[in-house]
Amino acid sequence: MALAIRHDADLSALSTFRLPARARELIELTAPEQLADLPDSDLPVLILGGGSNTVFLDDWPGRILLNRIAGLHVERLDADHSLVHVGAGESWHQLVLRCMSQGLHGLENLVLIPGSVGAAPIQNIGAYGIELSDVLEAVTAWDWQRRETVALSTADCRLSYRDSRFKSSDHDRFLILSVCLRLSHHFEPKIGYDSLAAELGKRHLASPSPRQLAATVMRLRRHRLPDPARLPNAGSFFKNPVLPRELAEPLLEEFPRMPHWPMGDGRVKLAAGWMIERLGFRGYRIGDAGVYQHHALVLVNHGQATPGQLLDLVEHICKAVDDEYGIALEPEPCLTPGPLLIY
Ligand SMILES: Cc1cc2nc3c(=O)[nH]c(=O)nc-3n(C[C@H](O)[C@H](O)[C@H](O)COP(=O)(O)OP(=O)(O)OC[C@H]3O[C@@H](n4cnc5c(N)ncnc54)[C@H](O)[C@@H]3O)c2cc1C
Repeated sequence: MALAIRHDADLSALSTFRLPARARELIELTAPEQLADLPDSDLPVLILGGGSNTVFLDDWPGRILLNRIAGLHVERLDADHSLVHVGAGESWHQLVLRCMSQGLHGLENLVLIPGSVGAAPIQNIGAYGIELSDVLEAVTAWDWQRRETVALSTADCRLSYRDSRFKSSDHDRFLILSVCLRLSHHFEPKIGYDSLAAELGKRHLASPSPRQLAATVMRLRRHRLPDPARLPNAGSFFKNPVLPRELAEPLLEEFPRMPHWPMGDGRVKLAAGWMIERLGFRGYRIGDAGVYQHHALVLVNHGQATPGQLLDLVEHICKAVDDEYGIALEPEPCLTPGPLLIY
C-alpha cells in the first residue's frame, strides 16, 4: 500500500502522557515492504508504537514512523512448545489474550501492559515476576546501519532490567519488524511475586487457572495504575535502582523497611516508589504535572501539563531522592527528543 506522509503532525494523542508536540513528518507503516518506498531524507527518524513509554518534551524535528505492522503466526515446535511470530505493530495486551485462548502459556503475568509488541524488547517489559526475556526467542529487525533485515537471537538483544541494546548502545539502529516468542502448551503458573501471591491467597487460588491468574494480575494493575485514557501517564516514571550488594546493605540498614529484591548476580534492586512515597510526594503536583495519588512511582498529566512542569517535577523528585538516599534516579520512559540530562 502507498505510503501517506502527514506533515506538521499533531503527536499529543500518540503518546499516553499527552504532552503537546508536533512532528515534521509522520508516516504509518503497515508492512515491512513499505520500507523500500520511504522517500530519502536526512531527517532524524523516531519509531513510535503505542506511545506508552514515550514522553514528548518538545516537537520532533524529523520523521516519525508509526509502526502498525500486523500479523500472527503459530508454529508448533513439539509436544511442549510453539513459536509465536507476531508483527511488531500488534497490541501486546491483545497478544496475551489471543495466546491464552489458543492454549499457549507464559505471558499471563504480562497481561494489560499497554503498547505494541515491537516495543516489548526495547525495555524488556516485565511485571509480576516475569520479563519478556523469559519467553523471547528472536527478533526480526530492519538494521538502518547495514540497510538490511536481520534476525537477532535473545542473546543478541542484550536484555536486562528495563533495558536492551535497542535502548542503550544501539539506540536508533534498529526498527523491530516482528518478534518471536517461545510459549508452552502446559500451564505452569508463576505466582511467587509478593503482591500477586498475596492477592491469590486472599482469593484462595493456590493453583489458579490461566484465566484466574490473568484476571488477578488485571485486578491488581487496575487498582494500582491509572488508566492512561482517563489520566494520562507513562506507567512507572523511574526505574528501580539496582545497586551492588555492598552499596545496598548500608542503605537497607538505615532504612530497614525499604522493599528490595536480590537480583541473583550480587546486585540488589531497590524500590524507587517507596523512596519517593516516603518523602511525601504522593499527590504532589507542579501545575498539571503530578505524582499519582495512589502510587508514587507514576507521574501523571492532570490535563494541561507542560514539558517544563514535568521536568521541574522530575528534577524536584530526583534531587530529594539523591539528598535523602544518595541515589540518582533514572527515568524509565524515553524522553524525546533526548538524550536529556535531568539532574
Ligand atoms: C499504565 C501503564 C502501565 C505500564 N506498565 C508497564 C509494566 O508493567 N511493565 C513494563 O515493562 N512497562 C510498562 N509500561 C510501559 C510501556 O507500556 C511499555 O514499555 C511498552 O512496551 C511500550 O510500548 P509502546 O508501543 O507504547 O512503546 P512506545 O512508547 O511507542 O516506544 C517506546 C520506545 O521504543 C521504541 N520503539 C517502539 N517500537 C519500536 C520498534 N518497532 N522498533 C524499534 N524501536 C521501537 C520507541 O522509539 C521508543 O524509544 C506501562 C505504561 C503505562 C502507560
